[in-house]
Amino acid sequence: MTARLDLPSLLELTLRSAVEIVRGQVGLIVLRGRDGVMRVQASYGLPERLVRFFQPLWADLPGVGSDELEGIVSRWHIPDLQMRLGMVAAAAGLALSQVVALPLVIEGELIGVVYVFRTRGSAFSAGDRALLAAFADQAAIAVRNAELYQRVIEEQQALSAMIENSAEGVMILDASGRIEVFNRALSRITGWEATEAIGRHATEVLVLRDRQGQPMSLPEPPRQRTSAAESRAYVEGDVERRVGPPLTVGVTATPLYGEQGDLVREIYNVVDITRFRQAEELKSTFVSVVSHELKTPVALIKGYAETLRREDADWDRHTIRESLDVIAEEADHLTHLIDSLLEASRIQAGGLKLQPTDVHLPRLAAKVVDAFRTQTGIHTFDLDFPEDFPPVWGDPERLQEVLSNLVSNAVKYSPKGGMVWVGGRVDQGGVTVYVADQGIGIPPEEQGRIFDRFHRIETGLHRGTEGTGLGLYLVKAIVEAHGGRVWVESAPDRGSIFMFNLPVR
Ligand code: ADP
Repeated sequence: MTARLDLPSLLELTLRSAVEIVRGQVGLIVLRGRDGVMRVQASYGLPERLVRFFQPLWADLPGVGSDELEGIVSRWHIPDLQMRLGMVAAAAGLALSQVVALPLVIEGELIGVVYVFRTRGSAFSAGDRALLAAFADQAAIAVRNAELYQRVIEEQQALSAMIENSAEGVMILDASGRIEVFNRALSRITGWEATEAIGRHATEVLVLRDRQGQPMSLPEPPRQRTSAAESRAYVEGDVERRVGPPLTVGVTATPLYGEQGDLVREIYNVVDITRFRQAEELKSTFVSVVSHELKTPVALIKGYAETLRREDADWDRHTIRESLDVIAEEADHLTHLIDSLLEASRIQAGGLKLQPTDVHLPRLAAKVVDAFRTQTGIHTFDLDFPEDFPPVWGDPERLQEVLSNLVSNAVKYSPKGGMVWVGGRVDQGGVTVYVADQGIGIPPEEQGRIFDRFHRIETGLHRGTEGTGLGLYLVKAIVEAHGGRVWVESAPDRGSIFMFNLPVR
């Protein structure tokens, strides 16, 4: 009996043995559940439907620590047992004449009761009781063991489910570094199925590289327990995946030590930190771009102001006028920069609000082009919109910003001058507007990224131009807020065409 760990079959065996030992005909086992309530767990010689009538036998068994429990445990005395049997027998319609109750006690705690009934014959004797008493201790131990075992299994199942469903990648290694457990999230991260990964060496499955693409080793906790408080190890790297681009992950290794203090298992948690890394990079780009772009106008403003302020000089009206012009221009430049930054952060927070009305794009384009004509002597502008170009439903200020950014880029990125074309055509369901130049062009691999926040091309002829990388980001956000799309066609050294379409109401 004590070797059995499966609770239902153990209870059945216990009950049958108890009934046979004292030559009864019917038996029941009730056990106290984790909630403290006694419930029937096994019956013998009794149809299932009659079991509920026996409830009064244990309905008010005393709880832990009461004097009454003392009596039950030490003297086997359950008050009014024989009288209660009379009630039960009558209610169930059974001819039960005798009952003996066998308390199952572990360390002074009543964990259950075994009842044996006789339908005929004499009352249970003192000898019967003594026989059962010897049996009871063994039975109680066996039941407790089986209960504990069952609890361990349940906890293990809960733990497995937790690991399996964790949003973090988790794997558990044995002392030799082979994988024992490999959860679903880690399958997603690495592309390895658990069935393939288990049994392999961890270094085969989780392959990390640093930012330069050099292989990195996995974090390794100490092989022996140390007195140091922190035995976990952590690294960050790019994980190789079977399909798809690498992900940036943070890997924590936590050791489990045995009684001798030696490593028996390692638990690895793998978290996808790609987005954190990107956000971090963006933040540092932001700081360097902004400080660089702010410095130039501020330096100019300060330089001119200091010159004008000199006590020992007597400036003529013309010089004063020119200096003040530069100061005003640079202040405008700063205002524009700050506006773009605010706008970008507003878009980032999802708050781009349009104030739409009917907008006549050809007129808007003419206004923008006129402003740029006065600023450059080496570019020639061409405007080409059809007569019947329909008005679009949009925010005129924002759309002017779109055109202005595109024309500004066309000028800025054709340093040798040339034509700048601005025009539009009517399509099905909308209009398409283009801004084309004969400038330095954009390499194909960059064309997908130039609309990203702060993205600037840092190679070839693009190097050395001033800018924040916010212009096209704003263009894209504004066009998309209008329900349109923006794209580019370009070849290095040949020029670029930026196009966007907008729906017509
Ligand atoms: P910025 O001009 O401030 O750098 P943008 O977001 O306006 O930022 O443009 C992003 C990048 O795209 C620029 O750095 C530039 O390299 C490239 N680019 C934009 N417009 C053009 C163009 N018309 N011709 C060539 N390159 C361009």
